[in-house]
Amino acid sequence: MEQRLRLPLSVVEGSAHLDLPNPMNKANFRQFIAPLTVVIAVLPVASQAQSKPAADLIIQHAKIWTADTANPTAQAVAVLRDRIVAVGSDADVESWRGSQTRVIDAAGKLVLPGFDDAHCHFLSGGFQLDAVELNDATSAEEFARRIGERAKITPKREWILAGNWDETKWTPAELPTKELIDPLTRDIPVFVSRYDGHMGLANSAALRAAGITAQTADPPGGVILRDAKGNPTGALKDAAQDLMSKAIPLLTTEQRLHLALRALAHAASLGVTSCQNMDDGDNQTYNDLKAFSQLQEQGKLTMRLYVAPSIVDWEDQAKIGVRRAFGSSFLRIGALKGYADGSLGARTAYFFEPFNDMPGNRGLLSEQMQPPTLMRERMLKADAAGLQLCTHAIGDQGISIILDFYTDIVKEHGPADRRFRIEHAQHMGAKDFDRFAQLGVIASMQPYHAIDDGRWAEKRIGHDRASRTYAFRTFLDHGVRLAFGTDWPVAPLNPMLGLYAAVTRATLDGKNANGWCPEQKLTVAEAVQAYTMGSAYAEFQEQEKGSITAGKLADMVIVSDDVFTIDPVKIRDVKVLKTFVGGKIVWDSERLTAAGETKGP
Ligand SMILES: [Zn+2]
Repeated sequence: MEQRLRLPLSVVEGSAHLDLPNPMNKANFRQFIAPLTVVIAVLPVASQAQSKPAADLIIQHAKIWTADTANPTAQAVAVLRDRIVAVGSDADVESWRGSQTRVIDAAGKLVLPGFDDAHCHFLSGGFQLDAVELNDATSAEEFARRIGERAKITPKREWILAGNWDETKWTPAELPTKELIDPLTRDIPVFVSRYDGHMGLANSAALRAAGITAQTADPPGGVILRDAKGNPTGALKDAAQDLMSKAIPLLTTEQRLHLALRALAHAASLGVTSCQNMDDGDNQTYNDLKAFSQLQEQGKLTMRLYVAPSIVDWEDQAKIGVRRAFGSSFLRIGALKGYADGSLGARTAYFFEPFNDMPGNRGLLSEQMQPPTLMRERMLKADAAGLQLCTHAIGDQGISIILDFYTDIVKEHGPADRRFRIEHAQHMGAKDFDRFAQLGVIASMQPYHAIDDGRWAEKRIGHDRASRTYAFRTFLDHGVRLAFGTDWPVAPLNPMLGLYAAVTRATLDGKNANGWCPEQKLTVAEAVQAYTMGSAYAEFQEQEKGSITAGKLADMVIVSDDVFTIDPVKIRDVKVLKTFVGGKIVWDSERLTAAGETKGP
């Protein structure tokens, strides 16, 4: 398999056969192999070296960290069309230079494989870029003021949504209520989300639009928060948010295309060259896919996407025969996102023992797990259809139940290269690390959450459980593969913040300068590996990308500072200077426009 995907020199020098994995590459390859064949026919053997096509791009004088253990460092890399053809010393790569080769002198800067965000919600992220910013509001008054300002410029019939508020940054850290925002918003419906996506606050106009009253019962897997008189406060937890979703007008395709382009420009500027787009429970993933597919057709996808629609709809992909990682190098499907439970922040993560600060409450299983046997059945059928399972599980019992289901699948269907995933894998039960490893489950984790939740997690779950929280080191020690991402827009998309978080575990409140549960810290190399090769493996693409290796797609970044040698605290300030996807520059910090987007190469 590995050889098949490489672009070996022997092929370039005239061997007849090359089986490249996707049609686009085959077409590309034919374009140069055809004239080449003629040249070979005419010239004697001694001249064959000259017939090697020149690279389209060479990056030289660089400090390349390849993420390829067979060849960990290099000075230069050559790219032909969308693939890397040579990695080595400046001298090694020089032979690929031709008169048309674009040569970039990296001037000793660090070059890394492009970052592959293993878990994000890409269009929600784009939406967030456009939405009212509530996350850094430092008080309930500031939160309300910002919503009021947005209401003034919001057209009739439009909603105020998203926002990412976080009441833990306020004093007192109390959940907001509709009374706080009603006077400032009047008829404009508001449903702003908590940063973890597991709770939202509605104003009275939105509650009216959704028909939610004191008489409305809590749906399974959700809670409508109520005041002393039983009236809704406006805060809706987990599945109760679906009551509101039904009233919110769907985004049009035009809006989705616009948001996707904004998000793509943002990703390029941060060096994110691949993104694994997870269903976020709103059943809009197919509509997002439609937008991505249009952009791919127009050649406007500047990042590679692997899309995981909801497991509830597993039959859609199964019935057309789509299997794991099906598609082109830019857009693939074949994965399914499921939910076992909620979040720690909303106290809906599902634990064996109650929350320390809320006796009697162990969290909630998700709506998809009502009852759990229904989820188990879905998983068995989806696995039989060859689809990849990516399951959100945060509390220790939530994770444990999903591992039970994965065990059942292996028992019933036998061994296979399935690459089960648990998304977040946040609070592990001590006994479950071994099972995780034995089943080959990938821990798809978002290190930024550790420095964010780390501010208050221990109060909620106590020290013992906290010691197995975002347990990067324990996972690696058990031989579990990590795949890193962000959960954007829950956390910022910037991979440097993820590396910083994994390496320092210094919580955002500045209270754990030496790291919260410091025994779980990673080295910079381990963190970069998880964010590149680890993520590529999690989407069955480790032969195609994830490292700077001859034959792989030329997805790379040049960064401002050497993350391996600077003070780890400074990693969060490192900037991406250039981003390459398939050898094309999609971000160049020297070519900024006023909008912060690139003018193109
Ligand atoms: Zn997510």
